[in-house]
Amino acid sequence: MIILAEWFRDRMTAELIVALVGMAAIAFVVFRWIREAPDRPDPWDEEMDQEIASDQAQPLCCRCLTPHGPSEHFCPKCGAPVGDLVNFLPFEYIFSVGYLFRIGTSGDYRASPLTVMGFIIFSLTKYSIFAPFYLALLIGNLPTNIRRTNFPDQTASID
Ligand SMILES: [Zn+2]
Repeated sequence: MIILAEWFRDRMTAELIVALVGMAAIAFVVFRWIREAPDRPDPWDEEMDQEIASDQAQPLCCRCLTPHGPSEHFCPKCGAPVGDLVNFLPFEYIFSVGYLFRIGTSGDYRASPLTVMGFIIFSLTKYSIFAPFYLALLIGNLPTNIRRTNFPDQTASID
């Protein structure tokens, strides 16, 4: 405890204190801004809320809108992870990540600098030394994906 107090005493300079107070003030302003933000209006009416909450409601795939069972982990048509807890299950998580990486190489996403950087960083964290193989596929297909994103009507006839 004494060592810790000496460590703080040696490093507590005026600049550090000003920086800490500044960060605390910024955190307070951001917290207050989020807390006082107006609620967005609910886009669904009460009838829609009741239909979603009913026992007969069938979940749809978020990718292709195919109905699937409530206990299924992956869409039977497109293979997208649709289960509520897929990404928390160790075995299913592998397939969920694989599905995400396949999207990156197939080009079935909206190519932007942010999404491409996300694929690059995520593949580096997951594949480590094998990431260059994935990056070769990702970057090799990137011109086609960018064309498909920017000119979807022209590339639809090519596909
Ligand atoms: Zn699907």
